[in-house]
Amino acid sequence: MESILVLAHTEADGSLAKPALEALAAALALGGEVTVGLAGATANANAIGGCGAMRFLAVTGDAFAQPRYSTDAAAAEALCRASGAAIVIAPHTSRWARALSGVALRLGGRVDTHATAIGVQNSVPAVTRWFYRQRMEGVLTRSQRPWMILLDAGCVASWTGAPAAATLESVPVEVPATRTTALGAEATQADQQTIRTDAKLLFVAGAGWTKKQGDGTVHGAEAEELILGFLRTSQASLGGSKSLVDLSGEGQPVLGFMTHLNQIGQTGSTPRHPKGLSTCCHGEEPHAVGWRFIGERRAVNLDPNCGWARGKADVLYIADAFAVVRELNRLLG
Ligand SMILES: Cc1cc2nc3c(=O)[nH]c(=O)nc-3n(C[C@H](O)[C@H](O)[C@H](O)COP(=O)(O)OP(=O)(O)OC[C@H]3O[C@@H](n4cnc5c(N)ncnc54)[C@H](O)[C@@H]3O)c2cc1C
Repeated sequence: MESILVLAHTEADGSLAKPALEALAAALALGGEVTVGLAGATANANAIGGCGAMRFLAVTGDAFAQPRYSTDAAAAEALCRASGAAIVIAPHTSRWARALSGVALRLGGRVDTHATAIGVQNSVPAVTRWFYRQRMEGVLTRSQRPWMILLDAGCVASWTGAPAAATLESVPVEVPATRTTALGAEATQADQQTIRTDAKLLFVAGAGWTKKQGDGTVHGAEAEELILGFLRTSQASLGGSKSLVDLSGEGQPVLGFMTHLNQIGQTGSTPRHPKGLSTCCHGEEPHAVGWRFIGERRAVNLDPNCGWARGKADVLYIADAFAVVRELNRLLG
C-alpha cells in the first residue's frame, strides 16, 4: 500500500475532534505507512500517539487557528509536501472541503469529496461515494497522485486506543497574506440548536404540521411547542421537508425555528443517524433521498396511502402526529 497522510485540524486545545479520528481509522485500515499532519493554533498528538503512525507533523500558530482558505491551504500544502504521501485522507469538514481542491491543483494531484468508504481494489486504494444526490453508489480508483480524499463524517468508527507520547515535527510555513480577519463567532445557544449531527434520532417534520387539521383550523403554535418539546427531551436532530422550510423562509408565523439548513432531501442534506422518525411528511425527496442513510426508519402520517412513507419507512403509523408527539413528550417527561 502507498504512503498515506491523514490531515486534521486541531481544536482550540490542540486535540482532535471525532471526524479526524474517523479519517485516522480509515487510513490505518488501508494498511500503508501512515503520517499524521495537524494544523491549528496548537497541536497535541498524545491522544493518538499509540495509533501506529510513523510521523506526526504539525503546522501551528495563531494564523492557522481560524478557518480561512489561504492559511488552511498553505498549511495543507506544506504538510503534504513534508510527508511526500501519495494518498491524503482528510475529514470532510467545511474547512478542508474549501481548501483541498486548491491544494490538489498546486500539487498536481486530484481530489475527491464525500467519500463514504475507502478500501482496496486490485491492490490499489478505491473510494466509494454516491452520485446524483445519493441515488447511485460508485467505486473509483485514480492513477494521479497525490490523491486527496475527503471522508464524510459518520461513515467509519473513530480510532480508539491508549494515549502515548507522540513527538511532533514542526513544519515551517510562511504565513500568506490574508484579507480575511475573524472578529469572533456568533453561535446559536446550545438549547436552541436543532441540527445535532451526532444525535441517535433524526426527527423529520413535514408541511402537514402547518395544514388545517380535523377541526378545520391550523395549529401552528401547538406544532411548534410539540416539536421543540420533543427535541428538548429526546435531543433528536431536526430535519424538515422542503415545503416546510420554504414556508418558514417566507416569514409565515409557523415553525420559525425551521430554516433551510434543516432541509433534507434531493436539494437538502442526507444526514446519517441510527434512527429516523418522519411526521406529517409525504414527499419523495425527503423519504427516498433525505434519509437514505438512516438505519431504522419510521413514519407517522394520517394518510394510509402516503406512498413514500409506505415505500421507504420500515414502520408506518397511521396516526395523528399531534397526538403521537404529545404522548411521546408526556412519556419522555
Ligand atoms: C427538483 C425538486 C427537488 C426537491 N427537493 C426536495 C428536497 O430536497 N426535500 C424535500 O423535502 N422536498 C423536495 N422537493 C419537494 C417534494 O417533491 C415535496 O413537494 C415535498 O417534500 C412535500 O413536503 P411535505 O411532505 O412536507 O408536504 P405535503 O406534501 O403537503 O405532505 C404533508 C403530509 O402531512 C400529512 N399530515 C397532515 N396532517 C397530519 C397529522 N396531523 N398527522 C400526520 N400526518 C399529517 C398529510 O397526510 C401529508 O401526507 C423537491 C421537488 C423538486 C421538484
